[in-house]
Amino acid sequence: DIPVIAIDGPSASGKGTVAQRVAGKLGFHYLDSGALYRLVALSAMRSDADLADEHVLSDIAARLDVVFEDAEIWLESENVTDAIRAEACSNAASRIATYPRVRVALLERQRAFRQFPGLVADGRDMGSVVFPDAALKIFLTASAETRAQRRYKQLMEKGIDANISTLLQDLRERDARDSGRSVAPLQQGEGTSLLDTTSLDIGQAVDCILRQYAE
Ligand code: C5P
Repeated sequence: DIPVIAIDGPSASGKGTVAQRVAGKLGFHYLDSGALYRLVALSAMRSDADLADEHVLSDIAARLDVVFEDAEIWLESENVTDAIRAEACSNAASRIATYPRVRVALLERQRAFRQFPGLVADGRDMGSVVFPDAALKIFLTASAETRAQRRYKQLMEKGIDANISTLLQDLRERDARDSGRSVAPLQQGEGTSLLDTTSLDIGQAVDCILRQYAE
């Protein structure tokens, strides 16, 4: 059986970076499931689709012409690596991700990432729905203050002006929305091990996961 390590956690917990590094260390493939929801959102917005029409959106999800290549993402032969990170895309993705039909349409596409020698899968339903037989399930978290500070630093490095207290408020609102929604809520499931990175750097979090995987 091809092993899967499922990693979930709240917004700005660093799960993307940590998951990618764990994959790199093990020589595993990496699935950024959030990117798929973002791609459906981008594709829908570009074709002026109604973001409230679950059927149209699940059609778009099923037909998505996408290629993941190293750190680059291509939609219909166009490099959309940066485009899917835009705020409008985040908002639309978060809305689209609440539609059960869209989630089902993306299921097989996600499972296809499970290839030899293994997969690190990042996203909220990786351990519960997509890969329930994952060898290791991690819930990565950090205090809201720490996450706000990390995001602030990231934005400053990119030369984007930000305000810590606004970021903190945004994160808290997003956490509340994510934990309250009925489809794939953000939660620490059964058999998931909690990893609080408030006082850990990326390298330490990665080592911690590798150690658990080796056990
Ligand atoms: O992680 P990222 O911010 O890229 O995710 C984009 C959106 O898709 C978020 O709203 C997130 O909650 C949602 N998502 C999801 N299930 C996943 C991955 C992401 O509902 N497995």
